[in-house]
Amino acid sequence: MKQYDYLIVGSGLFGATFAYRAKQLGKKVLVIDKRPHLGGNVYCEKMEGINVHKYGAHIFHTNSKKVWDFVNSLVEFNRYTNCPIANYKGELYNLPFNMNTFNRMWPEVHTPIQAQAKIDEQKAEAVASLKGRKPRNLEEQALCLVGKDIFKKLIKEYTEKQWGRDCKDLPAFIIKRLPVRMVFDNNYFNDCYQGIPIGGYNKLIEALLDGVECITEVDFFKSKYKTWKKYADKLVYTGPIDEYFGYKLGKLDWRTVIFKTRVEGTPNYQGNAVINYTSHNEPYTRIIEHKHFEMFGQEVYDSPKTVLSEEYSTEYKEGMEPYYPVNDERNNALAEEYRKLSLHEDNVIFGGRLGQYKYYDMAPIIEQVLSIQL
Ligand code: FAD
Repeated sequence: MKQYDYLIVGSGLFGATFAYRAKQLGKKVLVIDKRPHLGGNVYCEKMEGINVHKYGAHIFHTNSKKVWDFVNSLVEFNRYTNCPIANYKGELYNLPFNMNTFNRMWPEVHTPIQAQAKIDEQKAEAVASLKGRKPRNLEEQALCLVGKDIFKKLIKEYTEKQWGRDCKDLPAFIIKRLPVRMVFDNNYFNDCYQGIPIGGYNKLIEALLDGVECITEVDFFKSKYKTWKKYADKLVYTGPIDEYFGYKLGKLDWRTVIFKTRVEGTPNYQGNAVINYTSHNEPYTRIIEHKHFEMFGQEVYDSPKTVLSEEYSTEYKEGMEPYYPVNDERNNALAEEYRKLSLHEDNVIFGGRLGQYKYYDMAPIIEQVLSIQL
């Protein structure tokens, strides 16, 4: 008899949701994580009484009633709605691009018909300048999709900061669509359900892992659990897929973000959770003011300080957090080869964004785990 039915490597949303389901079915489960805490990237750290999203701002949103009902059965969600603002050299624009954005960009524009006409005029100008050929880079592509004004103030320099390269040197396929909304609606997501767990994401993780044996600060590859078959019937692995195979086909690349977090002695620094800085005037791409995810109205002023995180998009180097898979030919092909190898690993489930080398939002991760036959 083995000690566990499942050894789960990684306590992020994939591992934690899997553990929850397995526990409900009466399975014996052990969760290990190399970090000093549980929760993976949704983990929050308390600073000045504020839940700080340590690994980047996380907003839960979904169209799936099944996922929404599931998470709400564990923890209540608040009414947070993501309405980011763009700051271009001090000019403030609503995102996503909508009627409020267009009126700010072109004060003579007041109606959807006027906005569409303006955008169409600028798109036509960009298409004509290509003289019948296809856009060759991201700059040409974006100009053809939204025209020069939106591109200049809200896309160009922001994208260059994100990728560390000039838009003319980035491939066109990165931007396939640039949705414009002809309504006065600043809600970033189109999903039916949205919010932040009341009390923060740690509450959700605590509820998922309630009664589950968990050990932190244990790296699977450096621990006795590497020989997992001695301990468990099955392995759920949510670490990087290339690491599992000892990088034998080569290393996958990642993009990462550096967060510079500080406390300000004012209750309300920027009046919004998310402000994008869309010019090169600032080296960071966004500033997150964490309290606005969970405090509304007077609550903001009842806590005298605030916590801010500047975000710097950066090339991944050894020792950094691997955040985003790189969506290019080399990495897509290499990841596919690793996925093929993973099919031959008996009794191992490769899950989550690292284990599958695919970017997933939180809700699709939960949806996947809910549909696994245990
Ligand atoms: P993770 O949360 O990364 O968990 C993996 C865990 O495995 C980690 O805790 C890690 O320490 C552990 N691990 C890895 N290797 C080992 C090892 N060798 N031994 C032991 N443990 C190991 N989604 C949204 O829906 N809304 C958002 O607003 C949003 N914002 C995001 C912002 C950023 C910057 C990022 C990167 C992602 C964002 N996401 C968002 C996506 C969300 O973070 C993921 O969907 C979710 O965290 C995936 O969970 P996971 O379990 O796959 O991975």
